[in-house]
Amino acid sequence: MPDAEIIAIGSELLTADKVDTNSLYLTDQLNALGVEVRRKLVVGDDRALVSEAVHQALAGAEIVIITGGLGPTEDDVTRDAVADALGRKLEFREELLGWLTERFKRFNRPMAENNKRQAYAVQGAEALPNPRGTAPGQWIETMVESNGRVVMLLPGPPRELKGMFAEECLPRLTRRLPPQVIRTRFYRVAGMGESDLDQLISPVYKPFTNPVTTILAGPGDIQIHLRARGATHEEADGLLQQIAPEIERLLGDRIYSRDGSSLEAVIGERLRALRATLCVAESCTGGWLGERITSIPGCSDYFLGGFLVYNDRMKTELLGVDAGLLKIHTAVSEAVACAMAECARAKTGATFAVSITGEAGPESFTGAPVGTVVIGLAGAGLVPQAKTYSLFGDRNGIRTRAAQWALDDLRRWLDSSAL
Ligand code: ATP
Ligand code: MG
Repeated sequence: MPDAEIIAIGSELLTADKVDTNSLYLTDQLNALGVEVRRKLVVGDDRALVSEAVHQALAGAEIVIITGGLGPTEDDVTRDAVADALGRKLEFREELLGWLTERFKRFNRPMAENNKRQAYAVQGAEALPNPRGTAPGQWIETMVESNGRVVMLLPGPPRELKGMFAEECLPRLTRRLPPQVIRTRFYRVAGMGESDLDQLISPVYKPFTNPVTTILAGPGDIQIHLRARGATHEEADGLLQQIAPEIERLLGDRIYSRDGSSLEAVIGERLRALRATLCVAESCTGGWLGERITSIPGCSDYFLGGFLVYNDRMKTELLGVDAGLLKIHTAVSEAVACAMAECARAKTGATFAVSITGEAGPESFTGAPVGTVVIGLAGAGLVPQAKTYSLFGDRNGIRTRAAQWALDDLRRWLDSSAL
């Protein structure tokens, strides 16, 4: 399968004000075709530098995509630079001038003399129409040491680039690429850090470049994508089989979803299947647990509601936690987390309850170190339980992780309790 390089041209992309987003779009599109981007560059409006970049890209990649610098002004150097790199001339195209003149007429605008620069194309290039702007694109096929190369010149404005790539380049690329099938696996994992996860599974995936493994980490939530390319379904599946079963075995029940579903969605499905109901009691997360649970449409089937009991008086008066218990153990304790969950369940009649209490910082009020979070679980006919965690992060990081850990503890509890 061929590889690609992307070159984004524009001095403004080298300032702190403007980011190259075109290459992100292009990478996504190319990956979907099974083409990997091996390198991308941002180059200012400098003919010699651009030409050198194109020359280098052609030495390594079968597909080279260049965006920007196709405008009518002197600082738009892409056409000249690409011609230099390929050792070809620019040629005037009558049909491009006709097209430009027509476009200006349609918009009732006079055409400036320098717009004629846009009627030049690299010798042998196929011009690509641009219904969204003035700069036509170019599709150039070339031979380098008998390996076919394709060079695309696309306009810089993202709207024009996307339209032209989708309408003109995708169909041409698909025709050129060998037939292939992409098969993927997708895992979402909770309850472990990114480096621990990578240490565990990298010996399995590192030796393979196909499938491609990508790991995306959020706070307490990691996504693992495996993407295999093959000539047939069987071949692609066979490639996945080389690593997927071992990754699944190593991660075990830390994998909470294989279809992209969020933790709250997975829990919702489980509760619905059990015909069970849920309530929450939150202290340091201030409602984030309830927020996540209620982000799932239809959660009223199983979610009853919750208690936001930040200070001790509210824990006692609203929820019914024994004041003596709070005094002896403090609010950040397993005894109180269990009591919060039990009381929430008793008040609402829910089948299950989850509680969160902890020190989100920056100061500690109970003496427990900042980051200490206790998650409590209660369930009809089950002995309540609580676990203490040392979570990492600033105040919001700790709170985000606390809600995530609570959802994950609940998930494991639902899966392990014989109900
Ligand atoms: P034209 O000048 O005809 O609009 P062009 O091909 O010369 O087209 P540029 O002048 O390079 O395009 O860029 C036009 C606009 O598109 C600018 O606002 C620029 O910041 C934006 N742009 C260019 N390249 C990128 C990129 N890689 N990512 C995001 N925006 C870009
Ligand atoms: Mg420019």
